Amino acid sequence: MSRPIGSHTRTSGGLARAALPYADAAGSEAVQVYVSNSRGWALPPGDPKQDTLFRDGCGERGLPAYIHASLLVNLGSPTEQTVTRSVETLEHALRRGAAIGATAVVYHAGSSVDPAHDDKALHQLREALLPLLDVAAARGLPKLLVEPSAGGGRSLASKVQDLGPYLAAVEDHPWLGVCFDTCHAWAAGHDLARPGGMTETLDALVATVGRERLMLIHANDSKDECGSTRDRHETIGAGRIGTAAFAELLAHPATAGIPVIVETPTAPLHEGHAADIALLKGLRLSAA
Ligand SMILES: [Zn+2]
Repeated sequence: MSRPIGSHTRTSGGLARAALPYADAAGSEAVQVYVSNSRGWALPPGDPKQDTLFRDGCGERGLPAYIHASLLVNLGSPTEQTVTRSVETLEHALRRGAAIGATAVVYHAGSSVDPAHDDKALHQLREALLPLLDVAAARGLPKLLVEPSAGGGRSLASKVQDLGPYLAAVEDHPWLGVCFDTCHAWAAGHDLARPGGMTETLDALVATVGRERLMLIHANDSKDECGSTRDRHETIGAGRIGTAAFAELLAHPATAGIPVIVETPTAPLHEGHAADIALLKGLRLSAA
């Protein structure tokens, strides 16, 4: 399927038990889940029965599955313990990803936090990430996808052009892909709301990383202004980016065949995501 559209999906109550009905109710054609607390370092082992049910359930539905790593992961951190924990968290997510049949693990690009640490951060990234990528490639584990952040905190990558030096730091490793988040790109200063702005940004992404690296899209509108460095997601069309930009996203050749995940507000359960997914499916139809 071209550009399957789905959402970040809740898993409390059991991976398969919670996520599959959620995905069905939301009309998802792709799913993304956490396999540990999004704001914690604990690394739960998972329930093998739920893992199998989830893997099979996604298989039957033809849903590609993605893991979002804990938001605490920061491979650029000046704090050694944070880097160690980040690596352990990514190792855990890759293992869990293999168990649940996930295609890839998404993590945030990270930040050096302290200007005095800027020079070291990319070298540190290389030391931490290269062995992980080598092991994942050798064992056929899911791929890792770096998601440029909203900026601020001395991000290692927030603008799409920053991905050039980021990838170079890990020798353009073939097991590292890219996840493009529209809210982050907007917060980092890409003017996606201007007609042609989304198209230009995706062109710049392809010019920087080539045609094969983009493997996932996070489609989120934003509550804040362009360049704010704030990461507050909004319902598609209800924020500052606006619906037309998402029509450009779904019409761009770089997004052909790439899953699109919404991480927008949803209440009381899946309803917000169902509406966003339906809206994006409509735009996809018009773009075809
Ligand atoms: Zn995201």
